[in-house]
Amino acid sequence: MKRIVDFSQFAPMFRCPLCGSSMDANSGRSLICTERGHTFDRSRHGYVNFLTKPVKTGYDAVLFEARSRLIGECQFFEPLHHAIANLISYPKSGQEAFTILDSGCGEGSHLNALCGFDYAGRTATGAGIDLSKDGIVKASRTFKDQMWAVADVARAPFHDRQFDVVLSIFSPSNYAEFHRLLKDDGMLIKVVPRKDYLIELRQFLYTDSPRRTYSNMAAVERFTANVEHSHHVRLRYVKTLDRQAIHWLLQMTPLAWSAPEDRVRLLKEMKSADITVDVDILIGMK
Ligand SMILES: [Zn+2]
Repeated sequence: MKRIVDFSQFAPMFRCPLCGSSMDANSGRSLICTERGHTFDRSRHGYVNFLTKPVKTGYDAVLFEARSRLIGECQFFEPLHHAIANLISYPKSGQEAFTILDSGCGEGSHLNALCGFDYAGRTATGAGIDLSKDGIVKASRTFKDQMWAVADVARAPFHDRQFDVVLSIFSPSNYAEFHRLLKDDGMLIKVVPRKDYLIELRQFLYTDSPRRTYSNMAAVERFTANVEHSHHVRLRYVKTLDRQAIHWLLQMTPLAWSAPEDRVRLLKEMKSADITVDVDILIGMK
């Protein structure tokens, strides 16, 4: 049976990204702002597009398909999801459900996985936004329990203090907006790669290039400069990928796009490969 998330539940959270006024859900087919009549239609898959013109992100449907398969079928990020779910704190009293915003959600697999955990009897209600329409189309076709929108995090289409948790997983951050969107006791969780993230790929693909090494120092410094009460947790694990999964990984990581073709070809011929995931999970309380 085809399900679509109960849109009316989310309608009061929205504000017009153009003029900042509240929005009416107009029987679920579109959102209309109450002040100026700016209108944003819902697609038949249920997402809303808040961009007035499309943005080229460099991330296309092929990438999102590969990422979806690697996360969904290979469980590539399962340990990461468990770690984040364990870190999430949510209001201990009050409403049954708490709210998570995934900023830069791509094709939605991270948010959907995180909304699937049992939080001591509480459920998480998820909203995902991304600049990439391809990502949001895929998310809204695949996951029917969350709310998806094509939107710019710099002009997020939500009122102030709507979310208990804001996630930013391998995605750019806008700290002023994150601060505005979080409830007063809200929590920001940002995931950035560490030096050993996909290290096998780096070292195999680049025999002599600065891309062989990586440091997240600048990203971590920006986080601590912008977020009060922060701490971080390191997570490192290794997954063995089969040939199909290696192909998906190569399709989804920008690391492979500009690599020498002969190295990419060699990697594609491998039957399996051990791949390291090494990340910092940065946590900030408002
Ligand atoms: Zn408006």
